[in-house]
Amino acid sequence: MRVGILGGTFNPVHLGHLRAAEEVRELLGLGEVLFIPAGVPPLKNADLVDVTSRVEMVRLATAGNAAFKVLDIEATRPGPSYTIDTIGTLGELYPEDDLVFIVGADAFLDLPKWKDAGKIVCAADFAIVCRPGVPALDLLDSPHLSIEPESLGRLDRGEGTVAEGALVSGKGEPRKAFVVRTTALDISATDIRKRLGRGQSVAYLLPETVKSFIITNALYSGDTS
Ligand code: ATP
Ligand code: MG
Repeated sequence: MRVGILGGTFNPVHLGHLRAAEEVRELLGLGEVLFIPAGVPPLKNADLVDVTSRVEMVRLATAGNAAFKVLDIEATRPGPSYTIDTIGTLGELYPEDDLVFIVGADAFLDLPKWKDAGKIVCAADFAIVCRPGVPALDLLDSPHLSIEPESLGRLDRGEGTVAEGALVSGKGEPRKAFVVRTTALDISATDIRKRLGRGQSVAYLLPETVKSFIITNALYSGDTS
C-alpha cells in the first residue's frame, strides 16, 4: 500500500490541510494518509498551543474520513520533532508500505534547513502541493528537486494537475517527486490565529468541530463564534 504522510504543527488544522490530503490521496492512489502533528517544531513556535490540543483538533478534523489517521509519534517523543527520527519510527510501523511525504511548496523550499535533509529525500517519494502565493516555478530554487521547468509552468497556467520529477539526494536510487496542483485554498493557520486574536470569525476556514474546540477551550484568545 502507498501511505501518505502529512506532518505539520497543525496550529490549528484547517481545510487547506484536509483538502490537499484528500486530493493527493485520490491522485496518487494512497491507501491511507497519516497526519503527524509535531510536538516541538524545530523551526517555529509562534503562538503554539499545547500538543495535546493540536492532536485532538486533528483527530476531530479527520474523524469522518476512513483513510485519514492521526499518529502521535512526534507528540509523545521528547525533544524537537525531527522528521528524520519520524522516518525511523514509520519504517518500523509500516515496513511493507511505500511512504509518500506530502508537503506544501513552502515547506519543501525550507527542506535544506531540516536536519538530515539529504537522508529524508532518500527515504520516501514526495508529493509537493502548490500553495497560493508560491508559484510552482519557484520550486526550481530547491536543491532537492530535478524537474522540467516547462512542466511546472504548465501547472502555474492551470494546465494539468501533476508534474513528475525526481528528488535530488546525491546518493542512491532517486526518489520520485510529484508536484501536485490541488484546489487552491489560500488558508493558513497563521491567518486563522490572527483572526481569532482580533475576535473575528473563522467559520468555513476549518471544520466546525475544530472551531467549537477552539472556542470551548479559549485557544488563541478564541472567544468568537
Ligand atoms: P502556519 O501558518 O502556522 O505555518 P500552516 O497553515 O502553514 O500553518 P502547517 O501546520 O505549517 O500549516 O502546515 C503543514 C503542512 O501543510 C505544510 O507542508 C504546509 O505547506 C501544508 N499546507 C498548509 N496549508 C496549506 C494549504 N492551504 N494548501 C496546501 N498545503 C498547505
Ligand atoms: Mg506553515
